[in-house]
Amino acid sequence: AKQSGRNSVYVFKNELETQLTRTVNIETELRYAIERNEFVLVFQPQYALEQNQFTGFEALIRWQHPEMGTVSPEVFIPVAERSDFIIDLTDWVLSQALTTLQTLSGEHPNLTLSVNISARELIRSDFVERIRQHLSKHPTINACQLELEITERIAMEQPQKALMIFQSLRRLGVSLALDDFGTGYSSLSYLKRYPLNTLKIDKTFVDEIGIDEEDEAVCKAIISLAKAIGYQTIAEGVENQQQAEFLRTHGCDFIQGYYYAKPLKSDALTALFANQTA
Ligand code: C2E
Ligand code: CA
Ligand code: CA
Ligand code: CA
Repeated sequence: AKQSGRNSVYVFKNELETQLTRTVNIETELRYAIERNEFVLVFQPQYALEQNQFTGFEALIRWQHPEMGTVSPEVFIPVAERSDFIIDLTDWVLSQALTTLQTLSGEHPNLTLSVNISARELIRSDFVERIRQHLSKHPTINACQLELEITERIAMEQPQKALMIFQSLRRLGVSLALDDFGTGYSSLSYLKRYPLNTLKIDKTFVDEIGIDEEDEAVCKAIISLAKAIGYQTIAEGVENQQQAEFLRTHGCDFIQGYYYAKPLKSDALTALFANQTA
């Protein structure tokens, strides 16, 4: 199986013509990636502006393919989503990430972990049960330490179903964040009906802080909207001091981005929290 897998990669490399070939090969290679240990999980720290310290981290997956090199999640997650492989992939992410959180929680009991969840798997009938099972394997973790990041599209495509699932997840105790907020489809009437905890301000708005007044106005509007309906805000993709100061001034709660910390391997993450007094 390993040999034929390698051959198919050479096919992929030499015949790049069609998107189809690419998809097929990535799909084939993905099936083996877990057993071949090709996935790596990195963790990007999240900084709380009020407490002036890191209080959590987001798990981000990496794929190191022996021939293709590093494949971006933006390439392979959509492929995984087209098949049920996304289920296995998320199970792998959750079990690795919760294990890391459990280890860190001994010294830092209130740390939070954010995990990206694809729309397609969220609406499957067994999703809430899967989350419950993952949590039951880590009894020292409080469910509220786990935050699921969901893009706003799902909430709009199947609003009724999404609402039910959100409610079940909240009963379980986990937190919910709307990812890439502001880029998509959110209707304000649904937004206040959903039992969410956090709005994640999309990087495209953060990028323009200090450059484009309209994008600055969008950031301010998202923060005040969130406050009005009782949600927290986190800004993603913060790369410089000007952006950080703007977000602090306007009352954003958390910040994530290269300015504070890049995604880290688990040992570097452990070192970062060890150097920070609790
Ligand atoms: P996202 O959830 O919006 O994640 C934020 C992306 O921005 C990450 O890219 C992160 O590394 C990057 N980033 C963070 N801070 C900065 C910054 O200051 N500047 C810049 N230029 N980039 C920054 P990444 O890791 O390549 O992930 C891309 C997307 O792939 C994620 O977007 C998410 O939608 C998806 N993804 C990543 N890991 C997973 C996963 O485990 N499961 C699922 N379903 N999706 C994932
Ligand atoms: Ca995310
Ligand atoms: Ca984003
Ligand atoms: Ca994204």
